[in-house]
Amino acid sequence: MTAGGYFGQALVVDAATGTSVAQPLTDEILRAYVGGSGLGTWLLHRLGTPGAGALDASAPLAFVFSPLVGTPLTTSAKFAVVAKSPLTGMLTDALASSQFAIAGKLTGHDAIVIRGRAPRLSVLLADGDGSRLLDARHLAGRTAAETDESLRDQLGRGWRVAAIGPAGERGVRYATISHDGRHAGRGGLGAVMGAKNLKAIAVRAAVKVTTADPRRVLAAARDLRERSFGPATAKYRELGTLANLLTFNAIATLPTRNFQAAEFEGADRLAGSAPDEAVEGMRRVARSSCASCTIGCEHIYRVGGGKKARVEYENVFALGPMCGVSDPGAVLTASARCDELGIDTISAGGTIAWAMECAQRGLIDAPWLSFGDPAALLRALDEIGTRDTPLGFLLGEGSRQASLTVGGGSASFAPHVKGLEMPGYEPRTLHAMALGLAVNARGADHNRSGAYEADLSGELDRLDGGDAHVAAAIETEDRAAIMDSLILCKFLRGVFTDPFREWAGLLAPVTGWDVSAGELHATARRIVLAKRVYNIREGWQPSDDWLPERLLNEPVVLPSGRVATLTADRLRAMIGAYYQKRGLDHQGFPRPGTAAGPGLD
Ligand code: SF4
Repeated sequence: MTAGGYFGQALVVDAATGTSVAQPLTDEILRAYVGGSGLGTWLLHRLGTPGAGALDASAPLAFVFSPLVGTPLTTSAKFAVVAKSPLTGMLTDALASSQFAIAGKLTGHDAIVIRGRAPRLSVLLADGDGSRLLDARHLAGRTAAETDESLRDQLGRGWRVAAIGPAGERGVRYATISHDGRHAGRGGLGAVMGAKNLKAIAVRAAVKVTTADPRRVLAAARDLRERSFGPATAKYRELGTLANLLTFNAIATLPTRNFQAAEFEGADRLAGSAPDEAVEGMRRVARSSCASCTIGCEHIYRVGGGKKARVEYENVFALGPMCGVSDPGAVLTASARCDELGIDTISAGGTIAWAMECAQRGLIDAPWLSFGDPAALLRALDEIGTRDTPLGFLLGEGSRQASLTVGGGSASFAPHVKGLEMPGYEPRTLHAMALGLAVNARGADHNRSGAYEADLSGELDRLDGGDAHVAAAIETEDRAAIMDSLILCKFLRGVFTDPFREWAGLLAPVTGWDVSAGELHATARRIVLAKRVYNIREGWQPSDDWLPERLLNEPVVLPSGRVATLTADRLRAMIGAYYQKRGLDHQGFPRPGTAAGPGLD
């Protein structure tokens, strides 16, 4: 009998025909990988052809749900989209939340995996009757939001839609998949969907899901709901993540002009000290939340022309300081433009910032593309979205591939790890985070490693990475592996004082498993290893666990006068200690005889 919270099967679809088969998922596999990111990693191992390109027809694109989806537990309406990334050539697992997660799971499946390529631009429909294709040629070039609206008008409001924008159709390697205004953002999943000729996937609930002990689940949900209103989430509710911008600026942790500085003179203009007020055109007009969330961290700002944009630290960092732009209206407009095109704001900002530096150095012929120019930022975004100019095509490849094409030493300042552009955390002044970014399976990623929390805790010297930083990086990576597989929102993490025990206390009444904190810790390590093993199968090399040269050669001076350096020797030492503590050999490969995990070869 399948455990509570699961259906014990994945729907495996052939996009060439729209037909599908059910792949059984045993209790052993579900318990070993839980759901979301963990189960998606296992599905990629099993259903992907080793060495196949991310945009090949055969490459699997997995929408993976979790045992908590459909329960009253706050922030649980989430899903993971897992595939080989066209940016990195390695695993990417973007999480998102919306009603799509609930409707998708209640088709009666723990995951929907798509392989193959539709003969024409299509929508994949999945519900209790299985799957089928719908012609979508009339939706070509439309935004994800327009596509969602149009399809729900056509099919009925019971359908939930995840769609790509124009950039996904054109193969921009950091295109997103969007639904209810949220995005599976990082790693280019929209390009994978576009390569399958799928404009959208639409799902409709058909069945109910049962839990093993509904009364205990309800009691746990009530308790978690109460705690979600407490001080641990106040920052997200009241200020949103944009509050980080001023804090990071004050401690020289705000990457600026493609990591040429760690403080931005325009930070106050962008974030202001009172974000509720009109700050030179940046005015907060609403607060909102994902489906099934009691925190509500979404802060919506007016853009102009009647448009609105969701503001988070990462999109403001990437399209603001990273590109030297301090005009709040331009940053909001650029953010909204990324949503319309369907591209990841972090990769877009990072790639454009790199191109601005190339233009400054005369490495690319685009004299108009200068740091700090709002018009240049918006023009570059449009060229990326349409890909109809040589520059737009080049930048649509991401900073790593573009730097290999341009040459001239530009790879040394391309802001990526493994091909994924860096988030807004300055590694030279956050050494635990530097390690987390270097070794993570997805590349430069602040969601799979929260090591910056240790750097900012005040308990470690953030400029002097050592063993304590390594331990902190491993612990946050393990926690993320479980939160991303259960799946719970990371903004809830502060309410858990003994997280693995408390997460086991949520999973047990849902599934009926007698799961313990120790078991979940082992599960976390298994999932982290499974991602590494997948990447190794797809060509990972030890040199991929590294940071851009600029960050190892150019020091940063703090406001206090202290000089922050992150040398290659220091990073190498931390990586070596990380491998040792993870049970890997000195190059980062599993030691002979290491069991990767159930169901993996
Ligand atoms: S805290 Fe924010 S991101 Fe997390 S589920 Fe709630 S609204 Fe969504």
